[in-house]
Amino acid sequence: MVSLRVEGLRKSFPGVVALDGIDLNVREGEYVVILGPTGAGKTTLLKTIAGLARQDSGHIYFDQQRVDTLMPFQRSVAYLPQNYSLFAHLTVWENVAFGPTVQDWSPRRRDQIVREMLNLVHLSDRRNSLPRELSGGMQQRVALARALATQARILLLDEPLRALDARLRLELRQELRTLAKYLGITTLHVTHDQEEAISVADRIVIIRKGKVVQAGSPKEVYEDPSTPFVSNFIGEANFLQGLLSRVEDGFSVIMLSDGRHVMGRPTNVPVNSQVVLGVKTDFCNVYHGKVEGQNSLTGTVVRSLFTGKRTTLEIQTGQGLLKAKVPSDQSLSEGSEATLRFRPENGIVYPIPNEGLQVALEVE
Ligand code: ADP
Ligand code: MG
Repeated sequence: MVSLRVEGLRKSFPGVVALDGIDLNVREGEYVVILGPTGAGKTTLLKTIAGLARQDSGHIYFDQQRVDTLMPFQRSVAYLPQNYSLFAHLTVWENVAFGPTVQDWSPRRRDQIVREMLNLVHLSDRRNSLPRELSGGMQQRVALARALATQARILLLDEPLRALDARLRLELRQELRTLAKYLGITTLHVTHDQEEAISVADRIVIIRKGKVVQAGSPKEVYEDPSTPFVSNFIGEANFLQGLLSRVEDGFSVIMLSDGRHVMGRPTNVPVNSQVVLGVKTDFCNVYHGKVEGQNSLTGTVVRSLFTGKRTTLEIQTGQGLLKAKVPSDQSLSEGSEATLRFRPENGIVYPIPNEGLQVALEVE
């Protein structure tokens, strides 16, 4: 097993900085998900680690050894590109045997590894099929087996579940993790899907515009988002802007534009600064009618969106449109008066972003 370290990685294309100084540490056998919106630099990062793109500056290490001067095949990484394609005229077996054949392994060693990989991805009985005879999920598994058959030290997966339908995606994402853990292979899995990231990662690294914005366990990035962007990207959040007026009983007290106060977690931001309080829609409760008390915002339900077990309510308040995800049996009808409430410990206080809140939240 190897660890992976990336230091100060930069890469520009004409008119765009794809990687803007990326630092990354992945432990031996760790399953790390790189999460970021489209255009964040995820594919460029993987290609650079695989050796298919060359960085402008910065270094890449496997264990303590620099690999960024090595050719792709010398790095022994298994790279599953975003738009992989199987060899259409080769069978499943031949597809998986491709790497070992090119690398001139002995037929015995080659056959053994191909057999093992097909077993792992549960496709032994389809070894003589052609790709077009397989379902999307099976094709994805063949591509994975083909990438792994080179006995790589590091597995790089670029949006590996993107092309699959919803049910299969859920199934295969756990399989991917199980397989990587079974092989003990250090894995970087790239996605723009926050739910996928949360469900498979040991650790999530969130990147945006070529920079790491936060790294931590799924629980950490969900419960302690470091910026409004992360707060809204992992799950969904409401934001209230106001003036940090004081700290009381260990909580921040924020004065809103209508003179009322809400309370949130303690912050390093100095008193009398403009701040924004972010609270996950999951942590907001909704009550019928007007309810007085701490952290209460009353308004009118303008939209009720049923999603099964939960219903998303959009409430027009004096502080803008706020959302809450409530159990469907506690939902309120459109047009009714409602009060949204949250606990101070779920309100996170941030300095007002320099670029303005709207721009700070954009998923470009
Ligand atoms: P992601 O995979 O997160 O969607 P990419 O790494 O593909 O992001 O791209 C990051 C940025 O770099 C984007 O703005 C993209 O348009 C640009 N980019 C990527 N590859 C190239 C290329 N070969 N030539 C020019 N621009 C590129
Ligand atoms: Mg990409």
